[in-house]
Amino acid sequence: MQTSFSPAQLQNPDMQASEKILRTCVHCGFCTATCPTYLLLGDELDSPRGRIYLIKDMFEKEKPATPEVVQHVDRCLSCLSCMTTCPSGVHYMHLVDHAHAYINDTYQRPWHDRLIRSVLKAVLPYPGRFRLALIAAIIGKPFKPLVERLPAIGARLGAMLSLAPAGLPTRSQAEPGKTFQAEGARRKRVALLTGCAQPVLDPGINDATIRLLTRLGVEVVLPKGEGCCGALVHHMGEEKAGHAFAKANIDAWTSEIEGEGLDAILITASGCGTTIKDYGFMLREDAGYAEMAARVSSLAKDITEFLSTIELPRQREQRLTVAYHSACSMQHGQKLTDMPKNLLKSLGFNVKDVPEGHICCGSAGVYNILQPEIAGQLRERKVKNIERIKPDLIATGNIGCITQIGKGLADKGSATPIVHTVELVDWVTGGPMPQQLVAAGITDVPTQSLQAAE
Ligand code: SF4
Ligand code: SF4
Repeated sequence: MQTSFSPAQLQNPDMQASEKILRTCVHCGFCTATCPTYLLLGDELDSPRGRIYLIKDMFEKEKPATPEVVQHVDRCLSCLSCMTTCPSGVHYMHLVDHAHAYINDTYQRPWHDRLIRSVLKAVLPYPGRFRLALIAAIIGKPFKPLVERLPAIGARLGAMLSLAPAGLPTRSQAEPGKTFQAEGARRKRVALLTGCAQPVLDPGINDATIRLLTRLGVEVVLPKGEGCCGALVHHMGEEKAGHAFAKANIDAWTSEIEGEGLDAILITASGCGTTIKDYGFMLREDAGYAEMAARVSSLAKDITEFLSTIELPRQREQRLTVAYHSACSMQHGQKLTDMPKNLLKSLGFNVKDVPEGHICCGSAGVYNILQPEIAGQLRERKVKNIERIKPDLIATGNIGCITQIGKGLADKGSATPIVHTVELVDWVTGGPMPQQLVAAGITDVPTQSLQAAE
């Protein structure tokens, strides 16, 4: 695609990067076929190609963002399905991230939008605040029909209440500042991102990861100072705040890298993994952090990537059919497609792909709160597709998807449990059965019992 940026505009490194991306687009439109919002809304401006045109025009003319541009860019899930489909290698993620920051700098959102976004930014990245907010949401659940009637903000507040769990699990012991020793001889040493929302919503994921890794001879350190990866604010266009979260993590991990050393930085939420793998790009112009950021990104691994390099002792011979829901950040963001499925297959699970598996479930960070209608349609579509393969359970690698699909299942009265992939790996290699499976009445049979029955 031809562009017409002035030399002065191209002095700006972000504009330079975006111009390079724009020039790779040949406007073939292949990406429209796999874009969830185009699929639902049928409007070219809600397709990747349409958004690329809007962003190009806004950048070239240095125009403040208009309500029209904001509407169509806001409707984008940042699912990156278009990046998987694009034959020209258009880096849509960096382009839309730049557009989010540009909109943030040049557009005054209506009061209700600013209010909701401010609350999300002030609460979600901080586990203590998020926990308190969830308690308030649990108490407020019965008032949802009244809340939904509020003008301007009712639908979004209603979405917040409906996504809150029925109750809060007990706190995990896996908190920053702790180290968990390897059992027996230490084979490796890794840092684990504790995260922000995940340990509050489902502490069992990090607990299973630590139990599994230490059993396998891996020392797990949760460095003091690590926290939210910054994705939540970064995707809302808050570039400075996103960079501040990234730098705090980089400082924490760098002191471990330069201290006792790290073989990897492990992440159990693929949305966070996509962002941490991008720290090198995000901070490329920061003289003080560019090198450290690139080193952190090169050490960042999804937990399933790391487990695929280790021999796993199988202790349970189960025959469960698993619907593997590949989070967009896993398949499109990190390009990890077969690895998590092969890991489960190697442990005896009968793994099935979900039809239309490339289409987002509608979670997408805080999208299901900011765009509840589209997110709700995508959730229903996802749950229907999952039900078509009649699984015993669902596995995925992202807490956002677990919450979103979990709500869809609950709405339909389905008892099919949804768990994180690592919880299954932990269980089958000697850990306890995940609570969600126990609650669904799935029986735990050790290997020897099954062999004796055959
Ligand atoms: S598929 Fe790629 S090159 Fe074609 S229109 Fe979409 S972004 Fe542009
Ligand atoms: S990121 Fe997803 S929603 Fe956004 S344009 Fe690409 S395919 Fe469409």
